[in-house]
This record gives sequence, C-alpha cells and structure tokens, in this order.
Amino acid sequence: MNAAVKQLSGGDDWISAIRETGVWREHEPMAPHTTLAVGGPARWFFRPADRESLITAVKHCPVDVAILPLGRGSNMLVPDTGFDGLVLDLSELNVLQFDACVVTVGAGVRMSRFARQCADHGLTGCEFMATVPGDVGGGIAMNAGCFAQQVSDTLSHIEVLLRDGSIIRLDAMDLNMTYRHIDLPAQSLVLSATFSLQTDHPDQIRERMRSMRSRRSSTQPLAQPNCGSVFKNPDGDYAARLIEAAGLKGLRIGGARISDQHANFIVNEGDASSADIVALIKRAQAEVKQQTGIELEPEVRMVGEWADLWSEGQCGDQPEALAGDGYE
Ligand SMILES: Cc1cc2nc3c(=O)[nH]c(=O)nc-3n(C[C@H](O)[C@H](O)[C@H](O)COP(=O)(O)OP(=O)(O)OC[C@H]3O[C@@H](n4cnc5c(N)ncnc54)[C@H](O)[C@@H]3O)c2cc1C
Repeated sequence: MNAAVKQLSGGDDWISAIRETGVWREHEPMAPHTTLAVGGPARWFFRPADRESLITAVKHCPVDVAILPLGRGSNMLVPDTGFDGLVLDLSELNVLQFDACVVTVGAGVRMSRFARQCADHGLTGCEFMATVPGDVGGGIAMNAGCFAQQVSDTLSHIEVLLRDGSIIRLDAMDLNMTYRHIDLPAQSLVLSATFSLQTDHPDQIRERMRSMRSRRSSTQPLAQPNCGSVFKNPDGDYAARLIEAAGLKGLRIGGARISDQHANFIVNEGDASSADIVALIKRAQAEVKQQTGIELEPEVRMVGEWADLWSEGQCGDQPEALAGDGYE
C-alpha cells in the first residue's frame, strides 16, 4: 500500500466500512475496464451495489485518496503504471424513470439503452446516444455528442455527489456545457440526470438511430479497441483532416496505430501499451503544430500521472456547418 496514503488516511478502517457493500478489488487491472484495452492497476476498485453504498463509500474514503469515476471507460486513457486511488465503477446506478417527456436516468445506464427506451416511449432528442458506447454519467462528464446532437441539448438537471458525501442538484444552464466540456465541481460524481425530450413516432426515431449507426460503422474502425475521437476538433477544422494532411494516417508506434480508416482514431492492434498511445498523441500534436500552428487538444481523458497532459481551452463550440463531411 502507498505509505503516504496509509499514514494520511489513518489505516484501512475506511476499507472495512465499505468493502462488503459491493464488488471490492485491490490492484485491479484497468485494461479490461477501458475500450482501448490498456492501463495498469487501480490501487482500489469498487463497484457499489447501489446508490446508498456509493454515497457511504465516498463519505468514508479519506480526502487524500483520489477518486476516479468510471463509466464504460470509452474515453479514458489510464497509464501503464495504473491509478493510485479509488476507481468507482458506477454501473449499478442503472435505474430509468419516465414521466411523460421528462426522463430521469442513473449515471450507470448505458447511453444506448437510454436511447432505445426513449424510442420505445416515442421520445426524441437523444438518438445519437444509441451510437456512443458510454454511460449516461460519462456522457454528461464529456458532454458527448455527434450527428449535430449533444447531451446538453436536452439535459435539464443533474444530481451530483460531492467529495464530502453531500448531494446537490445542478441545472444544465449553470454547467457551462460547450463542445465536450462541462463545469463539474472538483472530485464530484454525477449520480443521475434528468432530460426533457420531445415526442415523435417511435418508427421515425428508430430509423434515425439506424441511419446514424450505419454511417458510423462505415467510417470508423470499430472492430479494434479504441476510444473514439482522440482529439477535439479545433474551431473551423477537423482533427482527422489535420492529422491526415500531416501524413500520419497509419503511423504505428509499438502496438498502437493511427487508424488507416479515420485519422482521429488510435487503435490498439493487440499489444499496445498506454505509453505507445501517448507517444502517438504527442507525435500528432507536434506534427500538426509544426505544419499548421494548430494545437490539438486531447478529447480522451488522461488520468492519474497523465492528468496534466490534458488541458482545456483550445476549442470552442463545433460550428454546425462542419457537421457531416466524413471527418466527424
Ligand atoms: C467507438 C467509439 C465511438 C465514440 N464516439 C463518440 C461520439 O460520437 N461522440 C462522443 O462525444 N464521444 C464518443 N466516444 C467517446 C466516449 O464514448 C464518450 O466520451 C462517452 O461519453 C464516455 O462515456 P463513458 O461512460 O465510457 O466514460 P468514461 O470513459 O468511463 O469516463 C470519461 C470521463 O468521465 C468521467 N466520468 C465518468 N462517469 C462519471 C460520472 N458519473 N460522474 C462524473 N464523472 C464521470 C471519468 O472519470 C472520465 O474523466 C466514442 C468512443 C468509442 C470507443
């Protein structure tokens, strides 16, 4: 155990208080929990059985232990050295409640399940979620979007668990949600989200979802482990176009490659390390910067020791006019 943590935390009492209330593991490899299939061990990993167990865990977890909320790991790059803190897998927060056009959904509900159930209820506004492989909590943390829709379009409010164990409600309009950005309180977790949707015929909603899925499978390397778009699109351009123009499509480092099919995807060809992926990220940033002056900002969340490689600020809202020319 990390000696500094043990000393500051006053021993393992906090662990005994929570480990029986869900799935508890130590030194849990993170590769199976991320869609890139890379990443070393989490010092502690906990999947609370329910919402109350999660709240208790956060209350008991010493403040000097870093917390990392985990959805489906579809936008997360964990270092090979792992994460020295507590990973909280929220997949048991999986309740959906429909009340006419207002839907409240737990953070651990898969976005695709949410989208399908909305279609069954004749509710439109979140069709794109059928094609994004994350949970609702992860979708909110990223303000996920595609096909000219994003989470913030229909989000009404969220319920957030703060690091001291208290719960607050935050209205979407106060969250400064822009392109792949949201202002959440530090070290907080989204517990649930409430969306306000419109009505439409279920068949028409399903048809839009089908067409989005088929467009995605024809343009993206979905058969290999990846994390979707690695970089945000800079204002007025596409990261994929810039990387391709820099001659980097297909570049391989170790077991990772800039996809031949879509240059804003990095794929794990089977034996990639996180370091291989970061090397490709840095190479793409350096080449694009040298050739165009544009600084590509990672969309993938780098966690643990790499957290400061990820910083925001370069990208604004994605211009509507750019949607749909094959680089999305
Ligand atoms: C094939 C593929 C296609 C993709 N296409 C798209 C796309 O079209 N559009 C798009 O926007 N994204 C896309 N992505 C990226 C990814 O699916 C989204 O960003 C998604 O919203 C991440 O959800 P997740 O549950 O996997 O989050 P994770 O990867 O588990 O986490 C992402 C970040 O959110 C934080 N987080 C997770 N849950 C919570 C919570 N409950 N409270 C607070 N913070 C939380 C994590 O700590 C982390 O910082 C794609 C990924 C893949 C693999």
